[in-house]
Amino acid sequence: MPLDELLQRLVNVTPGQKLFLSVYLDLRPDQTGKKNHTTFLKTRLAELSNLYPARSPEQSLLAKDVKRLHKYLAEDLDASWKGLAIFSCSEEDLFIPIPMPIPPANDLNLSPYPCPFSLLRHAALYQTHAVIVANSRQARLFLVRLGSLAKQITHTWDEKHTTRFGRMGLSTQRFQRHRQEHIKQQGKEIIESLEKLVVLEKPECLFFVAEEGMEAELKKQLPAALKKKVTPLYSFNTHDPDHKILSGAAEALGMASKAKTETMAQRILQEAEPLGQATAGPEPALSALQNHQVERLIMDSRFDAGGWKCTGCLRLGMGGSPKVCPFCGGGISSANLREEIVIKAQSQGVDLLFTENYSPLMKVGGIAALLKYKSPKKPWDNRRSVSRPPSFLKLRFYSRRHSGAGGQFSFDNFSADGYNGPIN
Ligand SMILES: [Zn+2]
Repeated sequence: MPLDELLQRLVNVTPGQKLFLSVYLDLRPDQTGKKNHTTFLKTRLAELSNLYPARSPEQSLLAKDVKRLHKYLAEDLDASWKGLAIFSCSEEDLFIPIPMPIPPANDLNLSPYPCPFSLLRHAALYQTHAVIVANSRQARLFLVRLGSLAKQITHTWDEKHTTRFGRMGLSTQRFQRHRQEHIKQQGKEIIESLEKLVVLEKPECLFFVAEEGMEAELKKQLPAALKKKVTPLYSFNTHDPDHKILSGAAEALGMASKAKTETMAQRILQEAEPLGQATAGPEPALSALQNHQVERLIMDSRFDAGGWKCTGCLRLGMGGSPKVCPFCGGGISSANLREEIVIKAQSQGVDLLFTENYSPLMKVGGIAALLKYKSPKKPWDNRRSVSRPPSFLKLRFYSRRHSGAGGQFSFDNFSADGYNGPIN
C-alpha cells in the first residue's frame, strides 16, 4: 500500500476521543553494538503507564497497544531496517508499522491524534520506484515500495553470444550487427519483465544503471508513460552490488524532491506577496487550511508551533489558549500544530510537501500555502500601512457571528486569522 493510502487510513478514523500511540525508533546499534531503542522504549512506556489509574479504560487500551507493539518488535523486525515508525490505536483496530530509510530520533507519544510529521517529512523517499541494472550479460530489475525492496527479477544471458573478445569468426561489421540484434532482444526481455514488475504499481521514477548501448536500446523500447520517468544513475556501474545501487536510487529520489520542493516553495512565496493566490506564515496558512482554501501546503521540516484545539468544533488556533473556543464556546486543549496541520491537510487531500531547512521558507515561519483561488479582497486591504485587520475588528466579527440566527454559523467562508482575545 503506498504511503498516501496508509496515511489516509490513519487520518480518517471515526470521530470521537481516541488514544493514538505514535512510536519512532532508531534501530541502529551504537558503537558498542547495543540497540538503544529497547532502553528508550522501556523508560517511556513505564512513564506512560503511570499516566492513568489502574483498571481505567485508557489504561487497558494502552496495554493493548503496548502488547501489540512488543509482539511486532519481537517477531517482525527486519535486521536490515535502520528506523521504524509505528502508529497504533486499538479502539480503531489500527496498527501501521512503516520502516524508515532515514532513522528517526527515538520518540513515543500518546495523544488524541497520530503524530505522522516525522514520517511525512521524508515522504519523497517512500515513492514507489523501479531500478534497472543492465549490461550485455545480466539484468537486475527492482521494485521499491515504501522504502523497501518489494519485487526483484534477474535475467542472465549466455556469455558466448556477447563476448567482446571473440567475434565468433564474423567480420567486424557482421559482428556489430549481431551484437545489436542481441541487445535488441535483451532489451525486449527486460522491458517485458519491467512491465510485469510494475503492473498494478505506479512508479514515480525509473532509475537506470546500464551499459551505453543497452541504455539507448531500453529508452527506445520503453512505453511512453515510463519514458518520462527515466533517471540515469551515472555515478554507478552495473557491477556495483544491489544495496549500493538501491541506496543511490533512494538518495537521488531525495535530491530530486529537494530541488522540486524548493522551486515550488520559491514560487509559492513569490505568489504570496502581495495578495496573490498563495499565503505565507503559520497564521494565514492555518486559517486558509481550515477554510478548505488550500491546494498545496509546503512546510519546512523545522516548522514547529504550539497552539490549541477546540474539543467541540475541532477548530485550531495559534499561540496561547483562550478560555473557551471563540467559535463555538467549546472546551480547549493544547495542540501540537505541526502534527494537527499535517493531519488536517492529509484528510483534506491537500498536496503536502516538505523542505529541509530552507531559509526563505523558515524566514516566514516555515509554512506557506498555494490557494485554490485568490483571497477575496477585504476592506482593510486598502489601508496601506495595515496588512491585517485591527484586533477590535476581528472581535466584533466574532461576536456578530456568534449571535447569528439560531446560534448556527459556518466556518466555510470564515476568514479570521486566529484568536487574539485574552489568554489563559
Ligand atoms: Zn469550537
